[in-house]
Amino acid sequence: MHTRNPYQHPLDFLALAQAYPALKTHLIHTLHGAAIDFKNETAQRRLTEAILHRDFGLRLDLPSGRLCPPVPNRLNYILWLEDVLEAVALAEPSNDPARGHVRVFDIGTGASAIYPLLGCSTHPNWKFTATEVDPLSIRYARQNVSQNGLEERIHIVQADPDGGILAPLERSDVTYDFTMCNPPFYASREEVIQSAEAKEFEPNAVCTGADTEMITPGGEANFVGRMVQESVQLRDRCRWFTSMLGKMSSLTHIVHILREHAVTNYAITELVQGQTRRWAIAWSYCDVHLPDPIGRLSHHALQSILPPRNTLVQPLQQAASPAQVVPILTSVLASVDGLTVRQKSPESGAADVIATAYGNTWSRAARRKKRDAMPVEMDSRAQSEVQLVCRTRLGSNLGEESAVTLVFDWVAGKDRGLFESFASHVERKVVGALVLM
Ligand code: SAH
Repeated sequence: MHTRNPYQHPLDFLALAQAYPALKTHLIHTLHGAAIDFKNETAQRRLTEAILHRDFGLRLDLPSGRLCPPVPNRLNYILWLEDVLEAVALAEPSNDPARGHVRVFDIGTGASAIYPLLGCSTHPNWKFTATEVDPLSIRYARQNVSQNGLEERIHIVQADPDGGILAPLERSDVTYDFTMCNPPFYASREEVIQSAEAKEFEPNAVCTGADTEMITPGGEANFVGRMVQESVQLRDRCRWFTSMLGKMSSLTHIVHILREHAVTNYAITELVQGQTRRWAIAWSYCDVHLPDPIGRLSHHALQSILPPRNTLVQPLQQAASPAQVVPILTSVLASVDGLTVRQKSPESGAADVIATAYGNTWSRAARRKKRDAMPVEMDSRAQSEVQLVCRTRLGSNLGEESAVTLVFDWVAGKDRGLFESFASHVERKVVGALVLM
């Protein structure tokens, strides 16, 4: 589960029922305290309503026979998007967290409109366009939006089941920050039954979804595969295309499609909630990159589909403490011509900085050119355009006493080689200075 997810510890059902009395009749009293029967559909609905009411101030109405979303699992996906957003913000010059609106496009929002409701209640600057094909779900989604007073921020649109999944993006003049999607998982009713028998999904809970919600031709792999194909045309109309996936095999399939289209800027993560395991994938056509802890889940089974590394970690054996390295790092960065350096935050000080380069000024060739006062080859356009944004910080090697590490995150830029060359230059200079101490 995401480290910021507040539902990491077992719920206190008694306290929850006090805050939402309709849950009371569903409490079961066991030796270990109060619980609810997760196999009882009504109990599950009351639980979701109770959590949304107490912890998010939201009111939810669902028709019978439609999915009842478990809040902790849905929140995991939102929290991962928050991480992505925070990483992406480093590429912006002001790094202002209170920047304008974040525009989200939720595909298949369901009767609950759960992602828009959760997203808006936890982020005052998020706005959603949400699509749905099922008329009954659309009706309820709109009602859920209006009874929470969110009509100004959540727009529910009817999707054409035979049209493009991302078609509304094409027609919109808004640039979206994210798509998000919890696609119908299955390809057929047989697959639903098989997977229930194999207890592949939600082993402890009843499945409350209707066929329209759970089944799509070709299953989730095909659905998200279509999103990838459509995104190739849309490109930067949306900064990050993302989707949740229920099966590891779908993840592999989607990565292959991305690679077929030469999309190397992608990220994958795992969303774990109790015994339920989900995956999420994000891809982008812009030049902003995500650090490995967010986008490169190190699971041995996924080695072959992991994206290229965006985080380089160099242990500094010679360093006794981060405090010893900070002034060295500061002076090494200050010695790079034309580099602008800002602290990531006032608290991080000089141990965590964002360096912006307008061209390669550190290579031997660039320095020789400067020394010989030869005309610099970079044209004026290249000089004014950011070529590289690199977060440079000091970390520590957990478990190894006093092992300081130098960590480089590729935040933005087109040229991976430029990032690697910058990191290796800074590392060589820092190590060189440490050796002399
Ligand atoms: N987002 C909700 C519902 C997910 S179920 C939740 O997380 O609980 C998947 C939803 O996608 C269903 O409501 C289904 O009706 C909808 N759907 C299926 N095909 C679609 C399409 N082409 N465009 C938009 N929504 C679609």
